[in-house]
Formats: sequence, C-alpha cells, structure tokens
Amino acid sequence: MQATFRLFHDFAGSAVESNGQLKVDEYLRVDGYTDIYAIGDCNNTKDIKLGYAATEQAKLLGKNFVCKATDKPETPWKEGQCLC
Ligand SMILES: Cc1cc2nc3c(=O)[nH]c(=O)nc-3n(C[C@H](O)[C@H](O)[C@H](O)COP(=O)(O)OP(=O)(O)OC[C@H]3O[C@@H](n4cnc5c(N)ncnc54)[C@H](O)[C@@H]3O)c2cc1C
Repeated sequence: MQATFRLFHDFAGSAVESNGQLKVDEYLRVDGYTDIYAIGDCNNTKDIKLGYAATEQAKLLGKNFVCKATDKPETPWKEGQCLC
C-alpha cells in the first residue's frame, strides 16, 4: 500500500486524497488529467468498494471510450449508484 500510495502521489500529485484514493470527475477522469481514468477501489467515488461497483465503472468507461472515439456524448457516472 505504501508503494502504491507513493506511486499515485508521484504520478498524480494533488489528485490523491489523504487516504490514497484518486479524485475523479463524473466521467471517472483523474483530476487534472484529460485522458487518465481511475475505476474501482482506487477512486474516490462514494460507491461501496466492491467488485460489483468496479465492474459497473469498467463497463461505463468501456462504453464511453467508444463514444469518445465516435464523437458521441459520454455518459456520466452516477455518484453513489452502487451503494448497498
Ligand atoms: C477479503 C475481501 C473480500 C471481498 N469480498 C468481496 C465480495 O464478496 N464481493 C465483491 O463484490 N467484492 C468483494 N471485495 C472487494 C473487491 O475485492 C474489490 O472491490 C475489487 O477487487 C476492486 O477491484 P479493483 O480492480 O478496483 O482493485 P483490485 O482488485 O485490488 O486490483 C488492483 C490490482 O492492482 C495491483 N497493484 C496494486 N499496486 C500496484 C502497483 N504499484 N503496481 C502494479 N500493480 C499494482 C494489485 O496487485 C491488484 O491486482 C472483497 C475485498 C476483500 C479485501
């Protein structure tokens, strides 16, 4: 965890929360970056940190990559949609 936190910090600087999570916007894009995304346990969405939420975020991101490549509007992640 220490090494991962250090890696995150070196890589993303102020985009890292004090708990090591990466701050993301509604498109799961890391704060301050246009083409770097964070899904699953490592991001700071309010969703429960379970495989289910990570999978849903991965599915949305996959669809959004296709939208981006085809100039269609991307769908935002609904904050907290994976709360049990
Ligand atoms: C004991 C336990 C039980 C759980 N049970 C469930 C359950 O029943 N159902 C459920 O839905 N969820 C469960 N979870 C939660 C689930 O495991 C996580 O939410 C899910 O794995 C998150 O996926 P992820 O891809 O975001 O992160 P991870 O699965 O943690 O994947 C991150 C990967 O990054 C790698 N990594 C880390 N640091 C580095 C680095 N510096 N360089 C390269 N690679 C690195 C890790 O080795 C790992 O393979 C459980 C978690 C725990 C701890």
